[in-house]
Amino acid sequence: MNIMERYDVIFHELDLNVERTSTYISGSVTTLAKSKVFKLDTFMFQLHASLILDSVLGAKNQKLNFVRLTDVALVLLDSSYALDQFLQVKIYYHGTPPSGASAAIGNGFSNKASPTYANQITWSLSQPYSAYEWWPCKQSLQDKIDSVFISVTTDSTNKVGANGLLKSITSRPNGKSTYRWETRYKMNYYLVMVTVGQYTEYRAYAKPKQIADSILIQHYIYSNPKAYTNNVNSINATVPLLELFSDLYGLYPFYKEKYGHVMAPFSGGMEHQTMTSLGVMDFGIVAHELAHQWFGDNVTCATWKDIWLNEGFATYSEYLAAKYLTAASNTTTVLNSMFNDAKKSDGNVYVTDTTNVNRIFSSDITYNKGGSAIRVLHYLLGDSLFFKVCRQYQTQNANGNASTFDMNQLVNQLSGKNYNYFFSQWIYGNGIPSYTVKWNQIGSNFILAVEQSNTADPSNLFQLPLPFLIKSTAGDTTIYVQQGEAKNMYNFNIGRTINSIVFDNDNWILKYASLSKDATLSGIEDLFTNNGIRIQPNPASANVYVSGNNLLHAQVSLYDIQGRLCLSTILNGNGTLECSNLNRGVYIAIVKSCDGLVHKQKLVLE
Ligand SMILES: [Zn+2]
Repeated sequence: MNIMERYDVIFHELDLNVERTSTYISGSVTTLAKSKVFKLDTFMFQLHASLILDSVLGAKNQKLNFVRLTDVALVLLDSSYALDQFLQVKIYYHGTPPSGASAAIGNGFSNKASPTYANQITWSLSQPYSAYEWWPCKQSLQDKIDSVFISVTTDSTNKVGANGLLKSITSRPNGKSTYRWETRYKMNYYLVMVTVGQYTEYRAYAKPKQIADSILIQHYIYSNPKAYTNNVNSINATVPLLELFSDLYGLYPFYKEKYGHVMAPFSGGMEHQTMTSLGVMDFGIVAHELAHQWFGDNVTCATWKDIWLNEGFATYSEYLAAKYLTAASNTTTVLNSMFNDAKKSDGNVYVTDTTNVNRIFSSDITYNKGGSAIRVLHYLLGDSLFFKVCRQYQTQNANGNASTFDMNQLVNQLSGKNYNYFFSQWIYGNGIPSYTVKWNQIGSNFILAVEQSNTADPSNLFQLPLPFLIKSTAGDTTIYVQQGEAKNMYNFNIGRTINSIVFDNDNWILKYASLSKDATLSGIEDLFTNNGIRIQPNPASANVYVSGNNLLHAQVSLYDIQGRLCLSTILNGNGTLECSNLNRGVYIAIVKSCDGLVHKQKLVLE
């Protein structure tokens, strides 16, 4: 593929013939490109072997020779193009695209009747590697096309949806019309789209507060009237959603053109730039695909390894949309659904095998674990900093690409802290934290013991501040403990009687958790130094025997869990402590021998 990196795509003009009745396609694609090398004499592009390449013309309409090698073609240019020199090729082709279901959802180019509404539709869906199945192109994530014009001639009973602005509909002989769409925003090869079918158009206007003008929302809904009535709520939700995301992430990136929906009978949605294709039209999917206009289209993942930056943010945006625009009960449902699917994940969010399309678009790993990880990042950063990161990510990478590393750098830079551990634990690392939490209250002392494990990778322990809501008749309060080890024990002087505690009351953290009150928990479970000194029996009911080396003139002290001294004595060698008149409970016993050795341990009287 390296030969294709010798040029930069500036502009495409697609001039196609497509009907709603089959996937047969014919026409031409003109490419304007700029040489990136000192001598460019060969122009390589991708086109699936099942499509017939009719001819290739140069800028002066002269025929150029070409060779096909399976799914690519090499064109011998009319001259050698110097660095930064522009060249133009026009490729005529026709045929029936393949049906190997190699795209993220189905084929690159499909035809089917909607089972619910009967409308028969021809549509494209190129992500990640299937654009070349229906048009000659360069499938490079890094080489965004500066502008694209799309003309489609079809039966006049059809409408054609595509990217950008609809510039004209021109009547042709034999009952045909040509729809001409133009976009002048940079766009990835996989976001170029056409959809052909019988549609009714509905228009609305969104009004984000950053601009005085309004933004056209153009819906191409199946001409069957039931398609409108069944989806009217989602159609109407598009305006407030676009305004919400403009608030959260910055102004809708393609505000000079439009945002659109076009229906096609596939399962799901596809965030084609300025014209999303929708097989399903519920609130969540409308929010998801719209959020992609920021995360995916304006800023595209640098490589398919970084796809969580597209899909994780779009999935988390479904939650944010629910939170800001729907009832609390629905928000909880959306959040739990994301967490539950993330719990089925097995694998690192960061993709290592980009040849596996199913893995790239794994719902459990890329979408839901990715979205859940972003929720943890939101929790770590807090609202203000999290959305600042989102907006800065959009502006500094606008019309371009960003990698996981770029996001990590941005988070570090804007927070002034090092969040590399978050990326290594949640994005590059595998597994989900599982917590066993026990708590107890002794006097005013609140004791919390937290054990964590990782469901998939024991070496990947999560470093997080864990929130606990403490409920008491004196009022509720939230305390945070920093958990980084497999086992952590915390002691707080709480000064109130605790009725109950709730771990992660706002459901920030993707996790498994169990929580219980443990009356035997003292907070000093791990306390044990030895230095050859023993205190036995433990637990004890009455007398305790202290033995060891050099206990002559040794000082023995017993403190209760509140830190009060309850017994103090000097030993004359091995000896006995009379404990029967002390309260039953947990004590810290400290023995200091005359030569300076110290022994501390937990002692339970029962
Ligand atoms: Zn998506």
